Amino acid sequence: MNILILGAGQAAAAMAAKLRAQGHDGGITLIGEEAAPPYQRPPLSKAYLLGEMPIERLTLRADDWWTDQDIRLLTDTQATRIDRAAKRVETSAGLLPYDQLALTLGASPRRLPAALGGALRGVHTVRGIADIQQVQPALTPGKRLVVIGGGYIGLEAAAVARKLGLEVTVVEAAPRILGRVAAPETADLIRDLHQAHGVTILEGTGIDGLEGDSHVRTVRLADGRRLPADLVVLGIGVAPETALAAEAGLTIDNGIACDAQGRTSDPTIWAAGDCASFLWQGQRLRLESVGNAIDMAELVAENMLGAGKDYAPKPWFWSDQYDAKLQIAGLNAGYDRILTRPGETARASSVWYYRDGRLIAVDALNDARAYMVGKRLIEGGRTADPARVADPAVPLKELL
Ligand SMILES: Cc1cc2nc3c(=O)[nH]c(=O)nc-3n(C[C@H](O)[C@H](O)[C@H](O)COP(=O)(O)OP(=O)(O)OC[C@H]3O[C@@H](n4cnc5c(N)ncnc54)[C@H](O)[C@@H]3O)c2cc1C
Repeated sequence: MNILILGAGQAAAAMAAKLRAQGHDGGITLIGEEAAPPYQRPPLSKAYLLGEMPIERLTLRADDWWTDQDIRLLTDTQATRIDRAAKRVETSAGLLPYDQLALTLGASPRRLPAALGGALRGVHTVRGIADIQQVQPALTPGKRLVVIGGGYIGLEAAAVARKLGLEVTVVEAAPRILGRVAAPETADLIRDLHQAHGVTILEGTGIDGLEGDSHVRTVRLADGRRLPADLVVLGIGVAPETALAAEAGLTIDNGIACDAQGRTSDPTIWAAGDCASFLWQGQRLRLESVGNAIDMAELVAENMLGAGKDYAPKPWFWSDQYDAKLQIAGLNAGYDRILTRPGETARASSVWYYRDGRLIAVDALNDARAYMVGKRLIEGGRTADPARVADPAVPLKELL
């Protein structure tokens, strides 16, 4: 059986490895449009952006691993059309046939339209190595950076730039930073962290557009203020890569729609990672995280070989900002109760989310133990008495 994987990122690498580990001895081909072999993205807004990590450490597998595993990896190659009737894919390297096809196409960062100044030089996104190679030379002390969007990637970029000595302003249109992903309690901790490092955070502040000659010079805010800017980083979210799938007539619903096993509306085509939404407990979910990319891709690999398993996501995520580490377990959607537990040191704290009396998520700042305990409880389908969680005199391990 010949398996073709479109996209050569985190999910694709995990899927290919799992296929071989499960004993698949047929063809495996990966098609990736980027020049680099599959690599991890999280350091792109953390250690790699800061210049503290060499590029080789981003790479997920050494070059000879692909040859040893007899996996064909085509980089710098774009997939342009899926021909479902003929079971083949048009690519910039020619036509490639498949018996089973997997789509691990990731997501693309949202940009500002050119009419709003999105095409000016000095306006950057943070998604791939090529983006970092463009922005990094501009991160020099004293420059004025405006980050548009107060989500994790924007805030991580802000922290790196501040460490490198830039003057940084984060502009968030929603009433507060991290509005989509975390409770006000977590946002407060992160806002305090940035303000203590001298970052200006403007919340509830939309932007009207960017101005400049050919290079960005000013960010025009919706309230009429104008911020001088030597560079702008956009952290306004991503859109799942669905164009190829849509053009091939596959169902799209918040990403490439999959069933609980990772199969799309065509039974020989599967999807995993950032581009894929899946059914879980009656809801349609799409997760943007390394953990999901790996776990879903491995499950799809098994299911391509006939395992017939449903995906049971175990969401986890992390964010590094300055010397602080935020670790997140579970999904907080629909929470109706929040409590905060002080950690053992002044810098440590955790936020626990409950829905209908059940623990559903934990955000732990500089508190790896709270994260581990919360994660074990959530993954085990267990909960913890909120009064005991909130009481720092109750040792964390007694919550288990
Ligand atoms: C800056 C940054 C920081 C992050 N930090 C964290 C973190 O701290 N923790 C965490 O859990 N997650 C983090 N993430 C998210 C995580 O990296 C992604 O969820 C993960 O990479 C998704 O893997 P994927 O394989 O689905 O997509 P990707 O890794 O994006 O791979 C998809 C690949 O498909 C290629 N492709 C798309 N279309 C085509 C085509 N037509 N032909 C050929 N190739 C194509 C793309 O170019 C890309 O290389 C971060 C992401 C970014 C960008």
